[in-house]
Amino acid sequence: LESSKHRWELHGKITHHKKVSFGDSPTNLRKGMTVLKKLQSLGIEVLVEAEDLENYGRDWTRFHKVATCGIAFPKSTDEVSAILKACGAQGLPVVPSGGRTGLAAGAVATQGELVVNLSRMNRILDWDPLSLTLHVEAGIVHEAVQEFLRPQGLHWPVDLASKGSCQIGGNLATNAGGLRVIRYGHARRWVQSLKVVLADGRLMELHGPVEKNNAGTSLRDLFIGSEGTLGIIVEARLRAASLPKNRLTLLTSVPSLPAALEILKELRKKQLPILAFEFFRENCLQRVLEKTQLRPPFRNSSAAAVLMDLELADVSEIPESLSTADTIVAETEEQARNLWAYRENITESLAQLGFVYKHDLALPLRKMPAFVEKVESEFSQRFPGAELYLFGHLGDGNLHLNVVWPKKDPDGKLLSLCEKQNEWIFSEVVALQGSISAEHGLGLLKRKYLSFAKSPTELEMLRKLRKVFDPQGLLNPGKGIE
Ligand SMILES: Cc1cc2nc3c(=O)[nH]c(=O)nc-3n(C[C@H](O)[C@H](O)[C@H](O)COP(=O)(O)OP(=O)(O)OC[C@H]3O[C@@H](n4cnc5c(N)ncnc54)[C@H](O)[C@@H]3O)c2cc1C
Repeated sequence: LESSKHRWELHGKITHHKKVSFGDSPTNLRKGMTVLKKLQSLGIEVLVEAEDLENYGRDWTRFHKVATCGIAFPKSTDEVSAILKACGAQGLPVVPSGGRTGLAAGAVATQGELVVNLSRMNRILDWDPLSLTLHVEAGIVHEAVQEFLRPQGLHWPVDLASKGSCQIGGNLATNAGGLRVIRYGHARRWVQSLKVVLADGRLMELHGPVEKNNAGTSLRDLFIGSEGTLGIIVEARLRAASLPKNRLTLLTSVPSLPAALEILKELRKKQLPILAFEFFRENCLQRVLEKTQLRPPFRNSSAAAVLMDLELADVSEIPESLSTADTIVAETEEQARNLWAYRENITESLAQLGFVYKHDLALPLRKMPAFVEKVESEFSQRFPGAELYLFGHLGDGNLHLNVVWPKKDPDGKLLSLCEKQNEWIFSEVVALQGSISAEHGLGLLKRKYLSFAKSPTELEMLRKLRKVFDPQGLLNPGKGIE
């Protein structure tokens, strides 16, 4: 069904869709028209132009055909509640959407769902300097939170390269990790309370403005990392922390992954405070140099590099083994930013290459070299014509394994090949007691592989739980655990 066959009266004018496919979801489209009219009558902003549907109907991934009946932009909790009630009345499914930087296709609409985008709910509601908590609406952009806290010597200790676009609601719905997990842990640790709107439109405040609240089981923690499948997060109280007093940024070349792990071992042996410990292979660096204005960091070519932030006051505290010609120590904040640019531009640089299939794996550190060796030994036979790009938050045991072809995938053959090989990669990961998703979540991309993620008993419990929160199955259908 093509939406061009339909004319909708919205914003007081006739809007004519062009070339927007609703796939196999004509029913949702029909329900969508009723819901959109209802939302319009309530004064809630909605978009239905083809470009907007395409833009807001997806996240950073490009594997699925977008099919959404419209995009709603609530400005308040009441509006979120009204939207969910209207959808519930019609049985129209909903995709909660934040900054759309997700890498697991969690915010992608493929069944004609209504996308509920939180970006108009972006206010700071309260700052409490006594408890160091910042009360925000969920649609606030991550960087705006840091900009508020930084002048006070504080930060929200979750840091990720997508910070300019991702939203706090998205960060919490994915329990984001990022560049500082080694020191501060995932987003979950830095949340005091949440307000969520349930599928039936009711509002729940979870935990409240107190540090300690052990009055029974915490539902707050269930919502963190639930990828929009249990409710829509509308507000959060975030815990702030002091910015590290000192920070030394170092980039060093290493001949191999085991050599990088030796550095980590030495830092840990000396009990040096590590703020970040990142790894990337030489081919990742090359692609960044090609796509940016950055100059090569090392005089000689190197197989890989480790980028570290250490909380040290003085260069004299840097271990001797790192005081080599192959180590660059940032002397100014600007130099530190430049060193970080090599790492932070990898995802975007790879995205421009052709077809990129990403894995976000967690492995016990000790077992990682054996895993990488195994993948490399079979890579060219299993992925003919592709190149392997490895980088990630090595200190956390989090490897971003990217399979890249220098061409597009118009007929979906490369995607099928990658999906076929997932069974092999995930079996290896599970055999080593790793995880198939370290920080990006399951979304649409990993839903076929749930048996590699959870035990049958855990899956059964999670399915039941989802039904309790959303008996009609309207919240982010097809995503994560169903
Ligand atoms: C360059 C780049 C670097 C990245 N680096 C990292 C990294 O280091 N670590 C990391 O963890 N991730 C990383 N990511 C992935 C992404 O930025 C995170 O997953 C981020 O937390 C997503 O936030 P978002 O607002 O963009 O969410 P979206 O992509 O919009 O949505 C993500 C999921 O959350 C749900 N959701 C969004 N808002 C809400 C809400 N208010 N209530 C309920 N559910 C909601 C959506 O339905 C979806 O399932 C990176 C992405 C890019 C492009």
